[in-house]
Amino acid sequence: MSRTSLSLRLFLLSVLLLVGLGTGWGFFLDRSLQNELLEREDTRLLEHAQVVRVLLEASSDADLDALTDRVAAASHTRVSIVDPQGWVKGDSELNVAELAALEQHQSRPEIQRAMAGQIGHSSRFSATLHQEMRYLAIPAPRGGQTWVVRSSAPLTQIEGALSKQRRTLFLTGLSGLAMALLMSGIASWQAGSVVEQILIRTHAETIKSAPRPGQNAAEALENAVRSLAQERDRFQAVLESLDVAVVAVNQDRKIALVNSAAQRLLRLGEESIGTPLLTALPLPEVRDLLDDEDDRDDDETEVIELELPGATVVQLQATRATTGTVLLFQDVTRLRRLESMRRDFVGNVSHELRTPVAIIRANAETLLDEAIDDGPEPTRMLVGATLRSAKRLGNLITDLLEISRIEAGKMPVRLEALTLANTLAAIQEPMEQLSEDRGVAMETSLVPPDLKLFADPKALQTVLSNLITNGLKYTPAPGQVSLKATVGERTVRIEVHDSGPGIAPEHHDRVFERFYRVDKGRSREVGGTGLGLSIVKHMVRAMNGTLGLQDSEELGGACFWIELPKA
Ligand code: ADP
Repeated sequence: MSRTSLSLRLFLLSVLLLVGLGTGWGFFLDRSLQNELLEREDTRLLEHAQVVRVLLEASSDADLDALTDRVAAASHTRVSIVDPQGWVKGDSELNVAELAALEQHQSRPEIQRAMAGQIGHSSRFSATLHQEMRYLAIPAPRGGQTWVVRSSAPLTQIEGALSKQRRTLFLTGLSGLAMALLMSGIASWQAGSVVEQILIRTHAETIKSAPRPGQNAAEALENAVRSLAQERDRFQAVLESLDVAVVAVNQDRKIALVNSAAQRLLRLGEESIGTPLLTALPLPEVRDLLDDEDDRDDDETEVIELELPGATVVQLQATRATTGTVLLFQDVTRLRRLESMRRDFVGNVSHELRTPVAIIRANAETLLDEAIDDGPEPTRMLVGATLRSAKRLGNLITDLLEISRIEAGKMPVRLEALTLANTLAAIQEPMEQLSEDRGVAMETSLVPPDLKLFADPKALQTVLSNLITNGLKYTPAPGQVSLKATVGERTVRIEVHDSGPGIAPEHHDRVFERFYRVDKGRSREVGGTGLGLSIVKHMVRAMNGTLGLQDSEELGGACFWIELPKA
């Protein structure tokens, strides 16, 4: 509907209302005015009748007509006196002879009422005066009998006043109506624009469900139900095609929905719907997860891994919905089995390679020692290269074995109170050797001698030696690596600074990943494996610690830090 036709409709509606109301109000005012004028006329007529009544008692029969003439002349009112039998004995408009020809008046309504002792009113056409008259009659006692005094006046006076008032009323009403119509026209135009905006906004949403021309409400309802059913079928089809088991629970933790993957994986049949989830699936991990979910304020979803009866490993994710929680169970048994196979394979191969590589390394060392003086130059070069490769291979095997032990959970950490200086002393020798070989100074004076922390002694040694070794390896000579330790509220912070090239910020997040190298060439050159920092991360976390990397403000290179519980 266009804005113009909308506004026109609103305007016509308001015209109808205004004209209806105006006419009704006009009729009411006219009636009230007419009544008011009649009342006033009646009061005036009553006053004159009362004057005649007073005079009537003392007047003789012969004076009655003269009495009416006198009062009428003074009051511009026709006055009549009627005896108890209804004969008119005096009338200001008729002389005595005419009176005699008059008929009895007791049938007149106002006379009848006055005879009954009340005030009588009547409006009617007077046959005597040939015009519409207003009559008022009152009872008047005379000689022990009830006479009637009647005063009357032509209605033309009232009509005149009334039509004058009506004209004023009509003109006022008309101008009021014109004003009201003008204002309503403006308001309709504006309202039309507002409604049009609302219609435009809602049109897009309602167009699908709104009945089209010629379509009735029943049809529209049927269409809506059909499209809802289609939506439901589509949703069901998607849900059923999922590999992931979906279980929705309501706020009472009763099962509201299970898809077929859930029926297979968790053995929850259709009959489980409506039963409490923890009865159908009595797993403490699920209960804890739901409790956590209830306590949580944010929208994050928690993912846990658990083993179901029958050695099925599932990853469980809970997402809160408006009317409950949706639980997603993903079967990761195969994935975990493959991971374990890979770990075992890497572990076994590394183990098998360790001995032959150690033998190659030892033989190469012996050969190099013996050949150094008297062997030919090419032989010395070949043996030297063999020894370097054997060392790198040995490092890689050591790291691989370490990491597969950690991943397999075969590296239990035992936390105990340690003095950091003692741990450093245990790795001092190889570190000093490397420092000397690399021409990079090592500084440990910023480590308080009595500082204690909770850690696994072997794991902490591995962590520190990895970080210090990296500093010494990647810092060109003459450089510096320095250790700093500070005590916080609950933790001890150990920082390893170096004056080397540092690590660009874009690599900071990734250097702790397995086999991630920032500078591949340099890493290979210094015998790196790409596994050192990954081992550090696993061990620090296993000891309930945190770690990170930042630029070293003191020495300009990299600064690796770890925080562990203080003792
Ligand atoms: P790698 O055995 O190669 O040293 P890491 O896991 O210990 O493996 O380190 C990952 C990569 O991070 C290294 O290859 C190196 O490029 C970079 N890196 C580690 N420590 C430092 C450091 N102190 N200065 C510069 N680069 C470093």
